[in-house]
Amino acid sequence: MNLLSLFGKKTFPKGIHPEGFKEETHDHQARRLPFPEHVILPLSQNIGKPAVSIVHVGQQVQRGELIAKADGFMSVPLHASVTGTVKKLDLVPNARGGKEQAIYIDTALSSTQTLLSHEHVDFDKLSRKDLIQAVQNTGMVGLGGASFPTHVKMNIPDDCIIHTIIINGCECEPFLTTDHRIMLEQVEYLIRGIRIAMKSVDAPRAIIGVEDNKINVLEAIKPHLPDDGSITIEAVATKYPQGAEKMLVYSLLGEEIPSGKLPSSIGVAIFNVATLAAIGELLPYSQGLIERIVTITGDDLNKPGNYLVPLGTPLSHILEYAEFTGNEAELILGGPMMGMPAGFLDTPVKKGTGAVLVLDKRATKRDDILPCIKCSMCLQVCPINLNPSELGMLAVKRQYDVMEEKYHLNDCFECGCCSYVCPSNIPLVQYFRIAKTLNRERHRMES
Ligand code: SF4
Ligand code: SF4
Repeated sequence: MNLLSLFGKKTFPKGIHPEGFKEETHDHQARRLPFPEHVILPLSQNIGKPAVSIVHVGQQVQRGELIAKADGFMSVPLHASVTGTVKKLDLVPNARGGKEQAIYIDTALSSTQTLLSHEHVDFDKLSRKDLIQAVQNTGMVGLGGASFPTHVKMNIPDDCIIHTIIINGCECEPFLTTDHRIMLEQVEYLIRGIRIAMKSVDAPRAIIGVEDNKINVLEAIKPHLPDDGSITIEAVATKYPQGAEKMLVYSLLGEEIPSGKLPSSIGVAIFNVATLAAIGELLPYSQGLIERIVTITGDDLNKPGNYLVPLGTPLSHILEYAEFTGNEAELILGGPMMGMPAGFLDTPVKKGTGAVLVLDKRATKRDDILPCIKCSMCLQVCPINLNPSELGMLAVKRQYDVMEEKYHLNDCFECGCCSYVCPSNIPLVQYFRIAKTLNRERHRMES
């Protein structure tokens, strides 16, 4: 089949077409970043409960060793990303502006960093329950940035039948090329991870969705697909936010996930390519997640690229190795649309960190916020048909409850399309994030 004939056909209404800025890194094969002098491993690297430390100050740990156990089902364990000595348990700044508990490990720089070996697991012989437990043991969370525990996503309620799993390989945010490299370099792990995911949710078919700006991914993956058609790959139009769950399901299946419902309500489960490739690599050897591929890109870097980075690596080490030559920069963990700014150089790479974006502060200087001119451009791009203009005006009046109750604030998944097109520079998505946080706090106080 002519691969080009697959391109650009499937998509969703609205959205935007930002410039990609991917050329700087998408051809860079992932390389290992040298081990830092120390790593900082926050106990909370997932949505849900933080892990519980099982190490003490002064303890020697080996790379891959369990250092914090899961605190119940809505939690994942944590493993040492370097061989070294536990230096302290202390607070570390996070990207949300707060602080969180972390295990600090001084790296044994003379060590060979040999991975602790574990028993081999034949996942074909595991029951679904044991398979989900094995996934939890890897410490896996959604590596696309959501950080939702993967084993929880696989634990489908008994009354739900999953007919399709969708593997999200869109990587629609500008600058990011982590998933692109994984789909080229880790095809066997990815296919194995897809088979594990299919078994865990008892799904008969899987579709890998890839934006049509990645023709080499289709060429790389097609020869590895099974002949029975149970796993296929399809191209979708290159458009932002094509990789959002609701958009990708609509593009591939033509179905809508109802407001407030999960994909499982329409028989679908969605996983990111990086998550499944990591499961395919780690689970058969009972290994934990200790490193991940990170796109390091942006302004004033001599060595941008995709790097295999030990979890807990401080941003200062990354900037040093990528040879940052600028004076001042804004650091963003993730992409420019949905990423989080990082204000401290000792902020560590976590499981959900797919990119470190370095932006020259002069280029990120915000223009003045002007009044809404009711141009409706934000309405024309919101992929879930919200009214960002009205929501923005309510946010300014601090009517957060009205935003939630009458204007479906909680359906907003913070893609940032509305802010991107607003000619008045109104930071709509930032308003919505604040409103949601305050509403959550209000509900917590009321309960
Ligand atoms: S940030 Fe929210 S309101 Fe704005 S376009 Fe995206 S989904 Fe719509
Ligand atoms: S895009 Fe900006 S100026 Fe235009 S209607 Fe929306 S909020 Fe108002």
